[in-house]
Amino acid sequence: MKALLIGEYRQGKLLDTTYELKAFADRLGTDSVMLLVGSDADLPKYDGRLYLADAAKYGEYNPDLHKQLVLQAVERENPDCIVFVHSSYGWDLAPRVAVALKAGQVSEIVALNEGAYEVNACNAKLRRTVTPKSGRCVLTIQAGAFSPSGEPQGTPQLERLELSGTVSAIEFVGYEAAEQKGVDLSKAEVIVSAGRGVGKKDNVPVIAALASALGGELGASRPVVDAGWVDHSHQVGTTGQTVSPKLYVACGISGAIQHLAGMKKADFIVAINKDKDAPIGEIADVLVVADVMQFVPAFTAKCAR
Ligand SMILES: Cc1cc2nc3c(=O)[nH]c(=O)nc-3n(C[C@H](O)[C@H](O)[C@H](O)COP(=O)(O)OP(=O)(O)OC[C@H]3O[C@@H](n4cnc5c(N)ncnc54)[C@H](O)[C@@H]3O)c2cc1C
Repeated sequence: MKALLIGEYRQGKLLDTTYELKAFADRLGTDSVMLLVGSDADLPKYDGRLYLADAAKYGEYNPDLHKQLVLQAVERENPDCIVFVHSSYGWDLAPRVAVALKAGQVSEIVALNEGAYEVNACNAKLRRTVTPKSGRCVLTIQAGAFSPSGEPQGTPQLERLELSGTVSAIEFVGYEAAEQKGVDLSKAEVIVSAGRGVGKKDNVPVIAALASALGGELGASRPVVDAGWVDHSHQVGTTGQTVSPKLYVACGISGAIQHLAGMKKADFIVAINKDKDAPIGEIADVLVVADVMQFVPAFTAKCAR
């Protein structure tokens, strides 16, 4: 089995998620070859062949041209699967490639199950196991679900990829950064986050008080933001901010993959959860099994002394 991995490059830099593609292929037990529309100035560490197309020529993102480049690599390599990260790049490009190849697509894979793919269902409360019917398939993997086990190694064997005479009706104009509102959690050294387990909006100040006693910022999981208890600028996770504080305290947060993707690089993680088997326990350095509304005020009082 062979996988064609589509690396990602943005604003002149290779994205770290590119390494998760290799980790996915390794866990799948498949050979892999990578394609990157990027630059010689920032190549991935990769022990294998890398098709490099020049981003200066084909644009950092141009769906027409990037699709043609992927299809050219597919023709040369005849891979069984073409794998993207489930990012805005992957969301947009993967279906275009799948349609062109008449291949099945499985989106947002979070785990492998004996060679089949697990994807979230019902807002990540359930998982579905999926096996594509088409011989060749296009896959997107959830960022954060397949972390590399060690430091990436190797120097890629480069092969240049060029298109001849392809014109595109689309012009890549550039990126526009979202307006930064509220708090910038990416620089916080301590974050104390409220999850659905805090119960109601009126309890959020209790969590904010602990954040303040520890000299940190308030974070939140998505349901807390969706319910309007906390502003979106505090959300941590794949659709919120990615943070790497020295200390992360997760209060009443289960540990869904989309939340973990945003905070698992924290140096030290404390989770407070009444369920001793909550998945957050798998990555927490300390799991306090307690009712968050009993434990946090008592803990804050100790910290404030
Ligand atoms: C495309 C997509 C993007 C997403 N992006 C994000 C994202 O950016 N960030 C994010 O957070 N989520 C995101 N999600 C949602 C994610 O899948 C989870 O649904 C969410 O993270 C769960 O939040 P939670 O842990 O607060 O709630 P729950 O999963 O409901 O967990 C609540 C936890 O609180 C515990 N608890 C309950 N009562 C108490 C109590 N009294 N004391 C102590 N513990 C208690 C429970 O045991 C449970 O573990 C996304 C989902 C999708 C599909």
